[in-house]
Amino acid sequence: MGTLDGRVVLITGAARGQGEQEARLFAAEGARVVLADVLDDQGEDLAKELGALYVHLDVGREDDWVAAVAAAKEAYGKVDGLVNNAGILRFNTLVDTPLDEFMQVVQVNQVGCFLGIKAVAGELAEAGGGTIVNTASYTAVTGMAAVGAYAASKHAILGLTRVAALELAPKGIRVNAMCPGAIDTAMSNPAQLDPEADTEEMARAIDGLYRKLVPLGRIGRPEEVARLALFLTGEDSSYITGQPFVIDGGWLAGVSVF
Ligand code: NAD
Repeated sequence: MGTLDGRVVLITGAARGQGEQEARLFAAEGARVVLADVLDDQGEDLAKELGALYVHLDVGREDDWVAAVAAAKEAYGKVDGLVNNAGILRFNTLVDTPLDEFMQVVQVNQVGCFLGIKAVAGELAEAGGGTIVNTASYTAVTGMAAVGAYAASKHAILGLTRVAALELAPKGIRVNAMCPGAIDTAMSNPAQLDPEADTEEMARAIDGLYRKLVPLGRIGRPEEVARLALFLTGEDSSYITGQPFVIDGGWLAGVSVF
């Protein structure tokens, strides 16, 4: 028996990183998974490996959402779960951020999350209820220099989460958010995408940085975030809605003088 037996869950940004681990774990727990991304080759390959469905979905485009939900329904008869995971990060001080760059981040992270909630709410209600898990960030609950557009979009995701939880609770839909700290994926460590990169040197640099910054002394693993997504999607969280869940190795707890 899997935790998600009988469930149909759409995961955005599922071709790699945290979304990939969520797709792997959810499939292992019995869900029929719909992987959505703009990285079509990687997404198709992973879906084939998992015996799942892949759909091309740019989360910032409403027509893509309509097509993705229709494809999911056609394949599996319903949708009763969504993990809004897709996201992008750009580094810039606020005053140096061009408007286009700010809007690009908002379009994917914030508008993408809004469109996802809007696209699936009716389906989840029709299925008799369901769950939405939004991926915010550590930077949804505190500031971080040089990621202003990102932090603003992630703060907005918590607002969307709370309002959606209030509006959708009467339909049996729970909506929660995850706030990961530093997680070891291509987003926090773009060198992962560089085949020429010295992986040992990269691991040493990451180790050194997070040993100092994070109380638990290491960067998080995408598999650990996937387990939180599973908890918030499954019945173990049946009385929880509208909440942000920080998963950051203690980074937000405060500063240590030792
Ligand atoms: P990642 O870059 O490895 O994965 C992001 C995925 O989203 C990729 O597969 C990418 O193709 C996809 N994506 C990007 N734009 C898209 C779009 N318009 N439509 C559909 N898919 C799109 O990074 P990750 O760490 O796995 O990120 C997953 C989520 O976690 C993101 O929302 C990110 O903001 C959030 N997050 C990451 C960290 C971290 O340290 N890695 C920390 C906090 C929050």
